[in-house]
Amino acid sequence: MNSIFAGLPTTVFEVMSSLARERQAINLGQGFPDDPGPEDVRRKAAEAVLDGYNQYPSMMGIPELRAAIADHYKRFQNIDLDAGREVMVTSGATEAIAGAIFGAIEPGDEVVLFQPTYDAYLPLVLRAGGVPKFVTLKPPRWTFTEADLDAAFSPRTRAVVFNNPLNPSGIVYARDQLELLARYCVRFDAIAICDEVWEHVVFDGRQHVSMLNIPSMRERAIKIGSAGKIFSLTGWKVGLVAAAPDILKVIAKSHQFLTFTTPPNLQVAVAYGLGKDEAYFRDMRANFQRSRDRFCDGLTQLGYSVIPSQGTYFVNVDIAPLGETDDVAFCQRFVETQGVAAIPVSAFYAENHVKTVVRFCFAKHDATLDAGLARLGDAARRARR
Ligand code: GLN
Repeated sequence: MNSIFAGLPTTVFEVMSSLARERQAINLGQGFPDDPGPEDVRRKAAEAVLDGYNQYPSMMGIPELRAAIADHYKRFQNIDLDAGREVMVTSGATEAIAGAIFGAIEPGDEVVLFQPTYDAYLPLVLRAGGVPKFVTLKPPRWTFTEADLDAAFSPRTRAVVFNNPLNPSGIVYARDQLELLARYCVRFDAIAICDEVWEHVVFDGRQHVSMLNIPSMRERAIKIGSAGKIFSLTGWKVGLVAAAPDILKVIAKSHQFLTFTTPPNLQVAVAYGLGKDEAYFRDMRANFQRSRDRFCDGLTQLGYSVIPSQGTYFVNVDIAPLGETDDVAFCQRFVETQGVAAIPVSAFYAENHVKTVVRFCFAKHDATLDAGLARLGDAARRARR
């Protein structure tokens, strides 16, 4: 069997969620909200299953969703996308990432990855024959500098995979960091595969800036989005790709043999949802921000060292002040003895691991967060003794 996949562990999200189910723990690991998602969007999907078209839609996505995606990014990012040539629907962002990586690189090409690296990227790069070059980001700021990029880029660089807002760090990169990365992409003629699935989940009045919004990147950035994250419906697996026609054409060839297409009824519902008015997006953000504040205040009061979260469903805690040196052992012990599942952030590093950061998902009902905090309190007290 193929050595890259044969040698891989099961994804940390699946491992922690299975452990959480087994132990009946409170699952603050894998990122999914307690909330069932907007009822009108779910109803549209249900109606489309019963009354709509259930055969193969176009491999590029149904025309009304492609148009809705173009309209949505005109409204939120002021980007002009040609729905017929620059937009494609995928079965989740992970499929889009695979399609983009397989479509963009040749064996031997170097690909710049930022650690912590969302766990799907590296195996896909390796399977495509790519040679990873890492930029290592460190808490609590998780930023990168010119010197970091100097060390990672070379004339062999073909692509960079960039996740903004960044999971697991909960950082939202501002325009200056995007412009810095853009300068290197232009200088080394590299494509930027931009995982922007958390674009709407940003807090404290922040505005997400898409890489497609940086003028020098309009022809070399691949934007990837996710209806699962936009509508808190993570199981739907409806993703999207937006890129210049010459790039999208090739990714479409890769997509046609990964999944080919995506359930048409979900596409109908997502097309409807993307047109929702400003208030939906504002309220969604405000609700998650409120949960973030509730959970982070609770953690701080319990004496945990919280690394600020600017976006995503996640907040990280530095466990070094508790005398802990191994995040994997900590999470394992935590789920078994405290009944709380979290994600060890070292799982997102391939080298030079950061070993004392643990990620919690706060996209939960107050009761879930409070129950989690009560159990986390016990652990903090024990660690201090
Ligand atoms: N994106 C989710 C997270 O970061 C996990 C998705 C998955 O389990 N594949 O928690």
